[in-house]
Amino acid sequence: FAASGGGLVAYADARADAAAESPGVAPKKKVVVLGTGWAGTTFVKNIDSSLYDVQVISPRNYFAFTPLLPSVTCGTVEPRSIVEPIRKIITKKGGEIKFWEAECFKIDPENKKVYCRSNIGTNLEGNGEFLVDYDYLVIAVGARANTFNTPGVVEHCHFLKEVEDAQKIRRSVMDCFERATLPDLDEEERKRTLHFVVVGGGPTGVEFAAELHDFVSEDLAKLYPTIQDLVKITVVEHGEHILTMFDKRISRFAEEKFQRDGIELKTGFKVVKVSDKTITMENALHGESSVPYGMAVWSTGIGTRPFILDFMKQIGQGNRRALATDEWLRVRECEDVYAIGDCATMSQRKVMEDIMEIFRFADKDNSGTLTVKEIQDVLEDICIRYPQVELYLKSKQMSDIVDLVKASKGDVKKEALELNIEEFKNALADVDSQVKNLPATAQVAAQQGNYLARCFSRMKDSEEKPEGPQRITKMGRHRFLPFRYKHFGQFAPLGGEQTAAQLPGDWISIGHSSQWLWYSIYASKQVSWRTRALVISDWTRRFIFGRDSSR
Ligand code: FAD
Ligand code: MG
Ligand code: MG
Ligand code: MG
Ligand code: MG
Repeated sequence: FAASGGGLVAYADARADAAAESPGVAPKKKVVVLGTGWAGTTFVKNIDSSLYDVQVISPRNYFAFTPLLPSVTCGTVEPRSIVEPIRKIITKKGGEIKFWEAECFKIDPENKKVYCRSNIGTNLEGNGEFLVDYDYLVIAVGARANTFNTPGVVEHCHFLKEVEDAQKIRRSVMDCFERATLPDLDEEERKRTLHFVVVGGGPTGVEFAAELHDFVSEDLAKLYPTIQDLVKITVVEHGEHILTMFDKRISRFAEEKFQRDGIELKTGFKVVKVSDKTITMENALHGESSVPYGMAVWSTGIGTRPFILDFMKQIGQGNRRALATDEWLRVRECEDVYAIGDCATMSQRKVMEDIMEIFRFADKDNSGTLTVKEIQDVLEDICIRYPQVELYLKSKQMSDIVDLVKASKGDVKKEALELNIEEFKNALADVDSQVKNLPATAQVAAQQGNYLARCFSRMKDSEEKPEGPQRITKMGRHRFLPFRYKHFGQFAPLGGEQTAAQLPGDWISIGHSSQWLWYSIYASKQVSWRTRALVISDWTRRFIFGRDSSR
């Protein structure tokens, strides 16, 4: 709300400026946004729409709160409760932003156009295709489910990426239960039908398995007493453990809890083929084996969308796996195109690539050596431009870079310390080991959308006042600070009203109290008061009446 208030003020200013300068006012630059997920929606919510002509294109006319998707699969939360129409979000901003419900299928960066296709509309040719020009393009199309080309997955498995997927899973779970009760089935067939397999032991797969277990034990067991003992849930994971992105304590707790709950964990198994009634997996020790199953959910990670792969080939990124941007989220080698969220990977600049320049920059007196004071003067800039330096110092439990330099030099007094370029290189040699790709999470996507929207507002400013109103990082001579991700922690709901939380500073909490923390944070993160009210009332309804088992 504060942001939209600020936007109004800026709008009034822009109108006043325009009036002063008219008649020849330049038209507003066109910003085209692809996608209305976490990244795109956050960008749209925060962009100053008085400064740009903003057009949003997405095949879905709503934003979906993905962290609650696993709850939708078992009816804990209703699908309508976690989506917000994009037009509502736009209207709140004053309605200047345009939205087209269509899918982009080609980007032409040379002529600055995107090719789109609507699956509902028809144009004169009847194919629903149209072209949109841009001055700036923001790609926020997310990722697709990755099957690793495993045969049979697309045909026989469910994915859990979209709201429709969650709805299909729910229907399919109920189908399995109804089918398993039919009179003319033998025991084997009933067992097969009630075998639920989750492929992938990441946060999504684990949360779905936990949801399903709760649904079965809390609600369905009462309604299907004759077959409740035949139900089996299996989680297949290629790695040695589940939830490896979390602290070991959380991953161990989850494994133990699943064991107690009777969820079978098959770690070290890789699914190699799926047919309509069996899943074939491979294990280093036991070789290949097939198990009958009734329903399977595939959740093994994400891949790049085909039209983004085409675009990457066009701009010379054909050998990469995801669209690469710099730390200002600009697509590499492609002017005026930005990429945020799951569709992009931000490559972090390495200290070693720039070490000569850093040295020269720090050596203010051109002596060819750096003193402690010279290093200290540029410390802040180094840490802003190269966040890995700070991470490295933290991992070594050092307070600043001078300690690092001192440690590399051995027993020298701080005041007497002077470094030549080779010694400086040696001191920072391992720092780049801390460079990591950002995770594909809503947290990253939203922060990138927000950051980019702020850059756009300032870009306009700095065009008019070239020095720019904000701080210039001396080192890179950039008007904007590079994007930096702030990690606020992560949850792993494990079922039975228990959640594992890993918060910054390695603060870990597992159990019922973190479940309440989870409820309150997820309620507070809802995009609107409407969805917040709906989600909370869904939870309350579930507490009182249980989940709905109708199809
Ligand atoms: P998305 O949110 O996927 O949005 C992509 C948008 O682009 C969509 O609107 C889509 O319709 C649109 N689009 C697709 N193709 C085109 C096209 N050709 N042209 C135009 N538009 C297109 N993250 C967390 O941080 N915490 C969690 O608890 C969490 N839980 C999750 C649970 C599940 C089940 C899933 C699937 C994900 C979860 N995530 C979570 C991850 C998080 O949802 C993603 O990281 C996030 O959605 C990425 O945002 P995005 O904007 O890049 O992509
Ligand atoms: Mg998006
Ligand atoms: Mg989303
Ligand atoms: Mg990303
Ligand atoms: Mg010097």
